[in-house]
Amino acid sequence: MIDLKNIGQKQTDLLRDAYLNKKVAHSYLFVDPMQKKGLNTAYWLACLFNCTGENKPDGTCNNCQRILDGNHPDVFLVKLEGKQTLSIDQIRPLKEELAKSPVEGKRRFFIIENAEKLTLAASNALLNLLEEPVAPVVTILITNNENQILPTVKSRTQILNFSDEKIDSKRAQLLEYGLTDEEIDDLGDTAKLEEESKYLFQELLEQNDLALVRVSQISGLATKPASQKFVFYQLKTLAMKSLAAGEKLRKSAFLLELLMTADKMRASNVSFHNTLDYLVLSFER
Ligand SMILES: [Zn+2]
Repeated sequence: MIDLKNIGQKQTDLLRDAYLNKKVAHSYLFVDPMQKKGLNTAYWLACLFNCTGENKPDGTCNNCQRILDGNHPDVFLVKLEGKQTLSIDQIRPLKEELAKSPVEGKRRFFIIENAEKLTLAASNALLNLLEEPVAPVVTILITNNENQILPTVKSRTQILNFSDEKIDSKRAQLLEYGLTDEEIDDLGDTAKLEEESKYLFQELLEQNDLALVRVSQISGLATKPASQKFVFYQLKTLAMKSLAAGEKLRKSAFLLELLMTADKMRASNVSFHNTLDYLVLSFER
């Protein structure tokens, strides 16, 4: 179901700005590989316009509730309904709606999920909707593939991309953890370090003898200060995740404590290799 917490942060900031400045476009294309965030954000916008609460959109007032339940007369959702395509018959009712004015709110919302599945006829029918409309309506197309959207449709929409969300949130997390922008850029591809950190974490928890070998490998890989910081970030994150999941509670808590100490050693210029060795040897005791 719709989850107003699982939305695009950057995108909702932008939409809220547009709303406050009365500059909300009449048609959007939300490009979202997973579609879920895009759909949630579309409902978030409809709630923003109709919410009667203090912190708009609260998701809890009567208007928000009806929107989220699919019971608001000004909010329409077009979706696949188990079929392979979105047909012209699903677009026609929207055109009829367009002739009327909004029932309750200031604006009507047409939300079209899986827009890449619109048939050619449906896409063409949609075109008039996307022209500067006579009625106050916001049409939001959501797709996982903007290349499958008819160019004439696409050119009439404002495109919001949700696909870089994951990368951005990773950067945000690293910044929050204390890495600088330069350090993050300096990291380059972290896939290998992430993988090795994960193995080390498992080997530590299992008190596997391979942990010391792994430490040598990671020390060889993480030669830059930024990478070394990153390895500790990974290990701490894994320990906190394992704590939160209630797995091996005592061991995870002890490991996290040791990680904090070892990371302080690293920050005070003890060699990276030595800090990791300290970690393994202290944990084994
Ligand atoms: Zn509300």
